[in-house]
Amino acid sequence: MVSKEQILQWLHAFAAAIEQNKDYLTELDAAIGDADHGINMDRGFKKVILQLPSVADKDIGSIFKTVSMTLISSVGGASGPLYGTWFLRASTDLAGKQELTEQDLLGVFQAGLNGVIQRGKAQLRDKTMLDVLSPAMVAFAKAVDEGRGTVVALQQAVTAAEQGLKDTTPMLAKKGRASYLGDRSIGHQDPGGTSAYLMLKCLLEVLEN
Ligand code: ADP
Ligand code: MG
Repeated sequence: MVSKEQILQWLHAFAAAIEQNKDYLTELDAAIGDADHGINMDRGFKKVILQLPSVADKDIGSIFKTVSMTLISSVGGASGPLYGTWFLRASTDLAGKQELTEQDLLGVFQAGLNGVIQRGKAQLRDKTMLDVLSPAMVAFAKAVDEGRGTVVALQQAVTAAEQGLKDTTPMLAKKGRASYLGDRSIGHQDPGGTSAYLMLKCLLEVLEN
Protein backbone atom coordinates (compact mmCIF):
# COMPACT_ATOMS: atom_id res chain seq x y z
CA MET A 1 0.00 0.00 0.00
CA VAL A 2 1.10 3.54 -0.77
CA SER A 3 -0.50 6.07 1.54
CA LYS A 4 -1.58 9.57 0.60
CA GLU A 5 1.09 10.82 2.99
CA GLN A 6 3.72 8.97 0.95
CA ILE A 7 2.30 10.42 -2.28
CA LEU A 8 2.65 13.93 -0.83
CA GLN A 9 6.19 13.10 0.37
CA TRP A 10 7.01 11.89 -3.13
CA LEU A 11 5.80 15.11 -4.77
CA HIS A 12 7.89 17.12 -2.31
CA ALA A 13 10.91 14.87 -2.89
CA PHE A 14 10.57 15.18 -6.67
CA ALA A 15 10.25 18.96 -6.44
CA ALA A 16 13.40 19.03 -4.29
CA ALA A 17 15.27 16.74 -6.71
CA ILE A 18 14.28 18.99 -9.62
CA GLU A 19 15.54 22.03 -7.72
CA GLN A 20 18.83 20.28 -6.92
CA ASN A 21 19.23 19.14 -10.53
CA LYS A 22 17.90 22.30 -12.16
CA ASP A 23 21.27 23.32 -13.62
CA TYR A 24 22.11 19.77 -14.66
CA LEU A 25 18.78 19.36 -16.50
CA THR A 26 19.23 22.73 -18.15
CA GLU A 27 22.78 21.82 -19.26
CA LEU A 28 21.51 18.60 -20.79
CA ASP A 29 18.86 20.63 -22.64
CA ALA A 30 21.50 23.20 -23.70
CA ALA A 31 23.29 20.43 -25.61
CA ILE A 32 20.31 19.28 -27.69
CA GLY A 33 17.48 21.75 -27.00
CA ASP A 34 16.95 25.29 -25.80
CA ALA A 35 18.47 25.13 -22.32
CA ASP A 36 15.26 25.41 -20.34
CA HIS A 37 14.26 21.94 -19.12
CA GLY A 38 15.52 22.45 -15.57
CA ILE A 39 14.00 25.93 -15.49
CA ASN A 40 10.65 24.64 -16.82
CA MET A 41 10.42 21.75 -14.38
CA ASP A 42 11.55 23.82 -11.42
CA ARG A 43 9.03 26.55 -12.17
CA GLY A 44 6.23 23.98 -12.47
CA PHE A 45 7.04 21.98 -9.37
CA LYS A 46 7.59 25.07 -7.23
CA LYS A 47 4.01 26.03 -8.16
CA VAL A 48 2.86 22.48 -7.40
CA ILE A 49 4.35 22.70 -3.91
CA LEU A 50 2.48 25.95 -3.33
CA GLN A 51 -0.80 24.26 -4.37
CA LEU A 52 -0.40 21.07 -2.34
CA PRO A 53 -1.56 22.39 1.07
CA SER A 54 -4.94 23.32 -0.41
CA VAL A 55 -5.57 19.74 -1.59
CA ALA A 56 -3.73 17.76 1.09
CA ASP A 57 -7.01 16.66 2.70
CA LYS A 58 -8.50 15.53 -0.63
CA ASP A 59 -8.11 12.11 -2.28
CA ILE A 60 -5.07 11.07 -4.32
CA GLY A 61 -6.98 11.50 -7.60
CA SER A 62 -7.70 15.14 -6.76
CA ILE A 63 -4.08 15.70 -5.74
CA PHE A 64 -2.83 14.33 -9.08
CA LYS A 65 -5.36 16.47 -10.97
CA THR A 66 -4.10 19.57 -9.18
CA VAL A 67 -0.51 18.63 -10.04
CA SER A 68 -1.58 18.19 -13.65
CA MET A 69 -3.45 21.49 -13.97
CA THR A 70 -0.62 23.36 -12.27
CA LEU A 71 2.02 21.92 -14.61
CA ILE A 72 -0.06 22.49 -17.75
CA SER A 73 -0.82 26.08 -16.82
CA SER A 74 2.61 27.11 -15.54
CA VAL A 75 5.15 25.30 -17.72
CA GLY A 76 5.79 26.43 -21.25
CA GLY A 77 7.67 23.92 -23.35
CA ALA A 78 6.91 20.33 -24.20
CA SER A 79 7.55 18.97 -20.75
CA GLY A 80 4.71 20.84 -18.96
CA PRO A 81 1.87 19.39 -21.03
CA LEU A 82 3.56 15.98 -21.10
CA TYR A 83 4.06 15.71 -17.33
CA GLY A 84 0.66 17.33 -16.88
CA THR A 85 -0.87 14.63 -19.06
CA TRP A 86 1.01 11.93 -17.13
CA PHE A 87 -0.54 13.12 -13.85
CA LEU A 88 -3.99 13.72 -15.37
CA ARG A 89 -4.20 10.25 -16.87
CA ALA A 90 -2.63 8.72 -13.76
CA SER A 91 -5.48 10.23 -11.73
CA THR A 92 -8.19 8.54 -13.83
CA ASP A 93 -9.05 5.64 -11.51
CA LEU A 94 -8.02 7.28 -8.27
CA ALA A 95 -11.14 9.28 -7.35
CA GLY A 96 -11.85 8.91 -3.64
CA LYS A 97 -8.67 6.95 -2.93
CA GLN A 98 -6.69 7.70 0.21
CA GLU A 99 -4.15 4.97 -0.51
CA LEU A 100 -2.97 3.00 -3.53
CA THR A 101 -2.70 -0.74 -3.88
CA GLU A 102 0.04 -2.24 -6.00
CA GLN A 103 -2.52 -2.64 -8.80
CA ASP A 104 -3.49 1.03 -8.46
CA LEU A 105 0.18 1.97 -8.81
CA LEU A 106 0.53 -0.25 -11.86
CA GLY A 107 -2.53 1.53 -13.28
CA VAL A 108 -0.90 4.90 -12.57
CA PHE A 109 2.24 3.94 -14.49
CA GLN A 110 0.31 2.43 -17.40
CA ALA A 111 -2.20 5.27 -17.73
CA GLY A 112 0.49 7.95 -17.31
CA LEU A 113 2.64 6.34 -19.98
CA ASN A 114 -0.29 5.97 -22.38
CA GLY A 115 -1.15 9.62 -21.85
CA VAL A 116 2.38 10.70 -22.75
CA ILE A 117 2.30 8.49 -25.85
CA GLN A 118 -1.05 9.88 -27.02
CA ARG A 119 -0.16 13.46 -26.29
CA GLY A 120 3.43 13.46 -27.59
CA LYS A 121 3.05 10.88 -30.37
CA ALA A 122 6.60 9.70 -29.80
CA GLN A 123 7.68 6.14 -30.37
CA LEU A 124 10.20 4.10 -28.46
CA ARG A 125 13.80 5.05 -29.30
CA ASP A 126 12.82 8.56 -30.44
CA LYS A 127 15.03 9.76 -27.54
CA THR A 128 12.35 11.13 -25.20
CA MET A 129 11.07 10.58 -21.68
CA LEU A 130 9.18 7.65 -23.17
CA ASP A 131 12.45 5.70 -23.36
CA VAL A 132 12.60 5.90 -19.57
CA LEU A 133 8.92 5.66 -18.62
CA SER A 134 8.20 2.69 -20.86
CA PRO A 135 10.91 0.23 -19.74
CA ALA A 136 10.17 1.25 -16.13
CA MET A 137 6.49 0.42 -16.53
CA VAL A 138 7.29 -2.91 -18.22
CA ALA A 139 9.70 -3.88 -15.43
CA PHE A 140 7.20 -2.85 -12.76
CA ALA A 141 4.39 -4.86 -14.39
CA LYS A 142 6.62 -7.92 -14.70
CA ALA A 143 7.74 -7.79 -11.08
CA VAL A 144 4.16 -7.28 -9.87
CA ASP A 145 3.09 -10.24 -11.97
CA GLU A 146 5.82 -12.32 -10.33
CA GLY A 147 4.52 -11.33 -6.90
CA ARG A 148 7.67 -9.48 -5.81
CA GLY A 149 5.93 -6.80 -3.77
CA THR A 150 5.67 -3.10 -4.42
CA VAL A 151 9.09 -1.98 -3.23
CA VAL A 152 11.04 -4.65 -5.12
CA ALA A 153 8.89 -4.01 -8.20
CA LEU A 154 9.69 -0.33 -7.98
CA GLN A 155 13.40 -1.05 -7.47
CA GLN A 156 13.32 -3.03 -10.71
CA ALA A 157 11.42 -0.23 -12.42
CA VAL A 158 14.05 2.30 -11.34
CA THR A 159 16.86 0.01 -12.51
CA ALA A 160 15.12 -0.29 -15.90
CA ALA A 161 14.58 3.48 -15.97
CA GLU A 162 18.28 4.08 -15.33
CA GLN A 163 19.25 1.73 -18.14
CA GLY A 164 16.63 3.32 -20.41
CA LEU A 165 18.08 6.74 -19.62
CA LYS A 166 21.64 5.61 -20.45
CA ASP A 167 20.32 4.14 -23.67
CA THR A 168 19.00 7.55 -24.78
CA THR A 169 22.57 8.86 -25.21
CA PRO A 170 23.41 7.10 -28.49
CA MET A 171 19.90 7.64 -29.90
CA LEU A 172 19.08 10.05 -32.70
CA ALA A 173 16.23 12.31 -31.57
CA LYS A 174 13.07 12.08 -33.64
CA LYS A 175 10.70 14.15 -31.49
CA GLY A 176 10.84 17.54 -29.82
CA ARG A 177 13.44 20.24 -30.27
CA ALA A 178 16.35 17.78 -30.16
CA SER A 179 15.08 16.31 -33.44
CA TYR A 180 15.96 19.58 -35.22
CA LEU A 181 19.63 18.67 -34.66
CA GLY A 182 19.47 15.41 -36.57
CA ASP A 183 22.72 13.45 -36.17
CA ARG A 184 24.09 16.07 -33.77
CA SER A 185 21.59 14.86 -31.15
CA ILE A 186 23.56 11.62 -30.93
CA GLY A 187 25.86 11.32 -27.90
CA HIS A 188 23.77 13.35 -25.46
CA GLN A 189 21.48 12.10 -22.70
CA ASP A 190 17.84 13.13 -23.02
CA PRO A 191 16.83 15.87 -20.54
CA GLY A 192 13.19 14.80 -20.19
CA GLY A 193 14.27 11.19 -19.71
CA THR A 194 16.54 12.39 -16.95
CA SER A 195 13.72 14.14 -15.07
CA ALA A 196 11.46 11.10 -15.58
CA TYR A 197 14.13 8.91 -14.00
CA LEU A 198 14.32 11.29 -11.03
CA MET A 199 10.53 11.11 -10.63
CA LEU A 200 10.60 7.32 -10.30
CA LYS A 201 13.71 7.28 -8.13
CA CYS A 202 12.10 9.74 -5.68
CA LEU A 203 9.03 7.52 -5.33
CA LEU A 204 11.25 4.53 -4.61
CA GLU A 205 13.18 6.46 -1.97
CA VAL A 206 9.95 7.44 -0.21
CA LEU A 207 8.67 3.86 -0.22
CA GLU A 208 12.00 2.46 1.01
CA ASN A 209 11.93 4.67 4.09
P1 ADP B 1 11.02 22.11 -24.84
O1 ADP B 1 11.61 21.02 -25.68
O2 ADP B 1 9.72 22.59 -25.39
O3 ADP B 1 12.00 23.21 -24.56
P2 ADP B 1 11.64 20.93 -22.29
O4 ADP B 1 13.03 21.35 -22.59
O5 ADP B 1 11.09 21.30 -20.97
O6 ADP B 1 10.65 21.43 -23.43
O7 ADP B 1 11.53 19.35 -22.40
C1 ADP B 1 12.25 18.61 -23.35
C2 ADP B 1 12.00 17.13 -23.14
O8 ADP B 1 10.64 16.81 -23.44
C3 ADP B 1 12.81 16.22 -24.03
O9 ADP B 1 14.08 15.95 -23.47
C4 ADP B 1 11.97 14.97 -24.17
O10 ADP B 1 12.26 14.02 -23.17
C5 ADP B 1 10.58 15.49 -23.91
N1 ADP B 1 9.79 15.48 -25.14
C6 ADP B 1 9.80 16.41 -26.13
N2 ADP B 1 8.92 16.10 -27.08
C7 ADP B 1 8.33 14.93 -26.69
C8 ADP B 1 7.31 14.07 -27.25
N3 ADP B 1 6.71 14.38 -28.40
N4 ADP B 1 6.98 12.96 -26.54
C9 ADP B 1 7.57 12.66 -25.37
N5 ADP B 1 8.51 13.43 -24.80
C10 ADP B 1 8.90 14.53 -25.45
MG1 MG C 1 13.85 22.82 -23.69
